[in-house]
Amino acid sequence: MEKILNYIDGTFCEPSSGQWLDNYNPSTGEVYSQIPDSNADDVSEAYKAAEKAFPSWSNTTIDKRSRILIKLADLIEENLDRLAAAEAKDNGKPLSLATTVDIPRASANFRFFGNAITQFASQAHESVGLQTMNFTLREPLGVVGCISPWNLPLYLFTWKIAPAIAAGNCVVAKPSEVTPMTAYLLGELCTEAGLPPGVLNIVHGNGPTAGEAIVVHQKIKAISFTGGTKTGEHIARTAAPMFKKLSLELGGKNPNLIFADCNYDKMLAVTVRSSFANQGQICLCGSRIFIEDSIYEKFKKDFVAKVSVMKVGDPFDSGTHLGALVSQPHLEKVISYIEIAKEEGGKVLCGGEKVNVAGKEGGYYLAPTVIEIPNNKCRVNQEEIFGPVVTLIAFKTEVEAIAMANDVKYGLSATLWTKDVDRTMRLSKKLEAGIVWVNTWLNRDLRTPFGGMKESGVGREGGFEALRFFTESKNVCISWEDGE
Ligand code: NAD
Repeated sequence: MEKILNYIDGTFCEPSSGQWLDNYNPSTGEVYSQIPDSNADDVSEAYKAAEKAFPSWSNTTIDKRSRILIKLADLIEENLDRLAAAEAKDNGKPLSLATTVDIPRASANFRFFGNAITQFASQAHESVGLQTMNFTLREPLGVVGCISPWNLPLYLFTWKIAPAIAAGNCVVAKPSEVTPMTAYLLGELCTEAGLPPGVLNIVHGNGPTAGEAIVVHQKIKAISFTGGTKTGEHIARTAAPMFKKLSLELGGKNPNLIFADCNYDKMLAVTVRSSFANQGQICLCGSRIFIEDSIYEKFKKDFVAKVSVMKVGDPFDSGTHLGALVSQPHLEKVISYIEIAKEEGGKVLCGGEKVNVAGKEGGYYLAPTVIEIPNNKCRVNQEEIFGPVVTLIAFKTEVEAIAMANDVKYGLSATLWTKDVDRTMRLSKKLEAGIVWVNTWLNRDLRTPFGGMKESGVGREGGFEALRFFTESKNVCISWEDGE
């Protein structure tokens, strides 16, 4: 059976414990590879390699760092088919999605930050009349930790690593133990791109062991984490007393507000995507759909008609719209919420059941599910399900719509469908979300700030925000004499 290895100091190595974890193929339910069950010893080795590499990497010219990142971007592009196939097998997502979204975005992350670092400037402030000059240095932090989830494996792993190393840091990174494969393959490409050994170290294993060891490591200066809100809270409790810099990108329960004056056909097509892309396992999916009552019945009929014919199947089948959910426990969690919805008076309009895919009987397939629910207080509208399940609620007024949209502990993203400019402005300002999309969804410009309000996170990624996070600013104040 294939063994995934840690990547430390530029070489692949086995876990010090000699222990391994099973890695499942979600589309068949079979174990197809094993990953290191790394512990604090492996993290310590990774740290030492990173610490050793830091003096040289942090003094490497911006031009050289930029070229290496851009080379990595090129290599990811050249390996698109291989990486996309690995991602689809490891995660259960449709190959078409991995090929058009996940892997191109991983490449874009390196290309973007390879370019962004060449434009990242520090400031100078002359205190005129006081004969004082201030300039601000932005220095890399040292060794930083990056921990990522399973839903967009290489996409989110590289979204953290790229700005960290572009800014001159060295990294100890841990991908999700549920989807480790493409992070493993990235190691090879790093070597090929000429990234010096120790700049990026990849440690595989469980969250409470390998992940925790990164968080509690005394000398790791910052933690950039994307994952569940509960895990984020635990990490914050652990890291805050150690005065580590923290960036937390957490869960979401995003509203999708549909007004009668929208471009209906565009809204319908995009809403199908924003509900079920990646089996609904994107933190930005619009899982709570609020519809103006004058078009509620029409929307319900048209939406359910479109969703009912979506094909759930083998991720490698080109006609597949939804692949498998990522794991058996996750499938069970999502199904349990469908049961909760029924107990709360919800009416399942379509889906709600497991799907049997011929020849893949052990796979974790679930039909896309639309549930009409009595009100926004239902648990299915308050708790993150993170699967192919959306709810419908009608609203009468804008005031009612915004109240329901904001009545949730999360605040990651929101989508708004309307042609009314005044309403767009009013609601965009009122929505409690880090990202508001109007008449579009998942439309990303990597220069923009990305992150959540409330329990969806702390801090922002993207553009110069990420480079600021991965650097410490230091102001130097010089007083000068005005002599001859
Ligand atoms: P998770 O919190 O279970 O795990 C995320 C990562 O943290 C994994 O690598 C895991 O091994 C690690 N981890 C777990 N316990 C840890 C600990 N005690 N110390 C250190 N690391 C630990 O999340 P998940 O199930 O992998 O991902 C799904 C969640 O991620 C959802 O809530 C989703 O909304 C969220 N998410 C958020 C964003 C965003 O940008 N806000 C993006 C994608 C996913």
